[in-house]
Amino acid sequence: MASPLTYDSRVHIYVHVPFCARRCSYCDFAIAVRRETPDAEFVAAIEQEWRSKSAITADGGALTTLYFGGGTPSHLAPASIARLVEVVTADHPLTPDAEVTLETNPDDVTAERADQWAAAGINRVSLGVQSHNPAVLEWMHRTHRAEQVAPAISAVRSAGIMNISIDLIFSLLAEISRNWSDDFERTLELEPNHISLYGLTIEPHTPLFRWAERGAAVPAPDERYAEEYLLAHDRMESAGFEHYEVSNAGRPGFRARHNSAYWRGVDYVGLGPSAHSLRGERRSWNIREWSEYRTRMAGGASVESGFEVLDAGARALERRYLGLRTTDGLALDEVPPGTCNAWYSAGWAAPDGDRIRLTIEGWLRLDALVAAASHS
Ligand code: SF4
Repeated sequence: MASPLTYDSRVHIYVHVPFCARRCSYCDFAIAVRRETPDAEFVAAIEQEWRSKSAITADGGALTTLYFGGGTPSHLAPASIARLVEVVTADHPLTPDAEVTLETNPDDVTAERADQWAAAGINRVSLGVQSHNPAVLEWMHRTHRAEQVAPAISAVRSAGIMNISIDLIFSLLAEISRNWSDDFERTLELEPNHISLYGLTIEPHTPLFRWAERGAAVPAPDERYAEEYLLAHDRMESAGFEHYEVSNAGRPGFRARHNSAYWRGVDYVGLGPSAHSLRGERRSWNIREWSEYRTRMAGGASVESGFEVLDAGARALERRYLGLRTTDGLALDEVPPGTCNAWYSAGWAAPDGDRIRLTIEGWLRLDALVAAASHS
């Protein structure tokens, strides 16, 4: 039976750092392109927002996970990262085994910075590698070069941060000749503890979308997505990784604990522009743009942009989606017996004790299967 995503969790904090040196060709995230980051103003804004939220957070409980995502958190000065950790943990100390993650771009990593991040309490680094192919990185408008990745990993390890995750993007456009197998092999040679895989999608309001509109970019055929996804799965499993979530695999003991909290549907607090929070049935989200977020903060106004109260139906749908995307799966009685049997016959799912979980073939059809489970 697959080991369940069980963690003794109290409080999970996400801090969205919106600044990037430039916008990648495929990216539709809430970012602010800045060569110089307004660190002092940003730290003050996060402190102000956290003060307004920490009083309602788990009775002053200790923090189990703290995650700096973006954007490019490593674009901030290390002293600002240290200050943010201090601010967030002032009244909510970290548990002794807390996971504290910093998303980084390889070109931001130096030995000195890595040492400062470690001293600040960062114990996990998620590195935005995406590809090892120089032409692909250029097409993506990434700021780093392929040869910066290995030294970045060495610097992080030398600083004592041994929990390293690598992000990769697969299923690139039809016309891009990228050898996914080579790219993946290069990634495994770097011996990360964790790998996150993202299939390229063409999102509105991105440079890539505009290229596609004028016919200068053609999406990859579905077969390419499936082939590359299955190749990655096989390589990761052979290398000793556990592919525990549709897009994530880790060596034993190295699952992403912060993201696992999302997948288990537990409460979390988001700080910063566009950050989401969940408390019980209430999910809320912040103003997306940094410029408006800072203006509201300066004026003492709420930065919440909207909220929804999840009714029983919405919670059930979400539970199915979150359960089926991980090796946790779902309790068998959450899926009608006829649907279970059809999935078993097709090779899309397998029984696991009193639970059902999707196979790798099932994960290729995740959205359709969740919809089927919800309407059958
Ligand atoms: S570094 Fe990340 S967040 Fe920033 S533009 Fe590129 S993909 Fe988007």
